[in-house]
Amino acid sequence: MMEKRPFVSLEQIQEMVEKFPTPFHLYDEKGIRENARKLHQAFAWNPGFKEYFAVKATPNPFILRILKEEGCGTDCSSATELMLSESCGFSGKEIMFSSNDTPPEEFAFAHKLGAVINLDDITHIACLEETLGTIPETVSCRFNPGGIYTISNGIMDNPGDAKYGMTEVQLMEAYKILKEKGAKHFGIHAFLVSNTVTNDYYPMLAKTLFELAVRVKKETGIQAEFINLSGGVGIPYRPEQEPNDILAIGEGVRRVYEEVLVPEGMGDVAIYTECGRFMLGPYGCLVTKAIHEKHTYKEYIGVDACAANLMRPAMYGAYHHITVAGKEEEVCDHKYDIVGSLCENNDKFAVDRMLPEIAMGDYLVIHDTGAHGFAMGYNYNGRLRSAELLLKEDGSVALIRRAETAKDYFATFDFCDLLKAY
Ligand SMILES: *Cc1c(COP(=O)(O)O)cnc(C)c1O
Repeated sequence: MMEKRPFVSLEQIQEMVEKFPTPFHLYDEKGIRENARKLHQAFAWNPGFKEYFAVKATPNPFILRILKEEGCGTDCSSATELMLSESCGFSGKEIMFSSNDTPPEEFAFAHKLGAVINLDDITHIACLEETLGTIPETVSCRFNPGGIYTISNGIMDNPGDAKYGMTEVQLMEAYKILKEKGAKHFGIHAFLVSNTVTNDYYPMLAKTLFELAVRVKKETGIQAEFINLSGGVGIPYRPEQEPNDILAIGEGVRRVYEEVLVPEGMGDVAIYTECGRFMLGPYGCLVTKAIHEKHTYKEYIGVDACAANLMRPAMYGAYHHITVAGKEEEVCDHKYDIVGSLCENNDKFAVDRMLPEIAMGDYLVIHDTGAHGFAMGYNYNGRLRSAELLLKEDGSVALIRRAETAKDYFATFDFCDLLKAY
């Protein structure tokens, strides 16, 4: 079993809490940059390669700016994600708009920014044309092969049950219509399996999409200029999981590219990715303090964070590794449920977890919260979202989003006006 160590020490946490009280999400700039460089190295063989970071995973402007410096674009699915991208200096084709069930005015906004629009459905062509008065020159379509998509070590998902994307028949038709209406540059996109911890997913998906691109060319005369492998590359949440080797993944995609696309004269197709979890997941953690212990039918440790700060365990029963800061070397001989304060019994960061004995005031580091962590925050029970901090490369710490206050919680109504109206 691999040791899972936090990127932050007890001493660093003790220093941080003097200025920033727990709970907070902390991000590791060095880890983010090194990982982004590795991804680019893995796909350096493809001249048009671009990673469009999925903003929904970690919608923080400081994080987006780091990724911009590393050569990434953004992948957005809503107006506010587009605004965030624009405010961070992303423009035009550095922005991918991969949304579904899209409000028409968001198509208009994305188009105004010059973003590449990725259509989730054939019916959206009419909506797009009606909204924009035109069809953009560059447009992408999202594919859904249906059925069950199985990759190595039993990992699979059920695209046939997913609301995203078009059937192959619809996709062919969509390209023909788009071309007729004036589109000139085309892309193909698919996202079939989430959080894959195997080096086989991207190469397999690439094969599916490359072969599709060849059929599209034969049937419609359209040659895709980019193929977007989207997200889905996972991270090892559990200590016994082997991390993905992104260099091996890039090499796997290259082999399929040379086998399928190059012989068809399609050796200039750009590869795009929209990784979120892989880019940020391991480089964020939630730091929280033990504030209560309770001994009833089980042993509970109550912490000052709750599911409003990290929803994944409550929502999917997701495993997040926990380290008691400063007790990394101690034996895990105590069995605990680590819980937050929400009046919902699924507000548990861990159930029956073996950990060292926890004392009140201990800091717990909840691992791998860098993606889909803070981002899924909500205000149930009137709980407020925490601060986000950045551990910079030089070891200093910056506040990159302050914690919400009661004022934020009440900002969407005015007591006086409401009482008058009532
Ligand atoms: C969520 C999402 C992503 C990112 O997925 P990860 O699993 O975090 O890599 C990419 N593209 C689209 C369209 C998404 O909805």
